[in-house]
Amino acid sequence: MSNLVCVVCGMAVNDKNYELNKESFMDSNSIDDIKYCPFCGAPIEYLIQGGKELIFDRSSLNDNALRIIDHAVKLEIFNGDFYKKAAVIAKDSKVKKMFQALSKIEFMHARIHKKIGGFKEDPVIADMDYSKYDSDEILLEMACKREKHAVEYYEKYSKEIEDENIKKIFAALSKVEEEHIELTSKEETA
Ligand SMILES: [Zn+2]
Repeated sequence: MSNLVCVVCGMAVNDKNYELNKESFMDSNSIDDIKYCPFCGAPIEYLIQGGKELIFDRSSLNDNALRIIDHAVKLEIFNGDFYKKAAVIAKDSKVKKMFQALSKIEFMHARIHKKIGGFKEDPVIADMDYSKYDSDEILLEMACKREKHAVEYYEKYSKEIEDENIKKIFAALSKVEEEHIELTSKEETA
């Protein structure tokens, strides 16, 4: 996998990092068969040999586009924070690990949006207390709801974004969240 680059997050995937966040995927990467970016979760079609991060013209972003991207940063940080806290509350070790990995993936998505919008600071979000979700089933149910909301967000607002590459990034991240829906609903019934 020499020089395999994720065009969504810009990270190079190599034999040292391909297994990162593996608990956040339905199917895992192997050294000879890479299926996802281990950093942002983008599927294989976004991993390009010698590829370069998608670029976009930030000056073309109007106020509406900037608002959409700013909200996407908040949405992903909110979800990343949820998973971080859910990983502490969860009882089952497999669920804990999955939440930890999902947290890292969502925080990476926030980073991608920050870069798109040229935002330097992390937004301040409310410090949520999720301790009332006192079973893994409830945590998974809440996780699944968040993922559905994220997919709806990307689908709805990508129509208002004009830049083709930003649309591509929204589509990639939406696919990642779609798999998270499957992942969190699968665990629920297990
Ligand atoms: Zn990536």
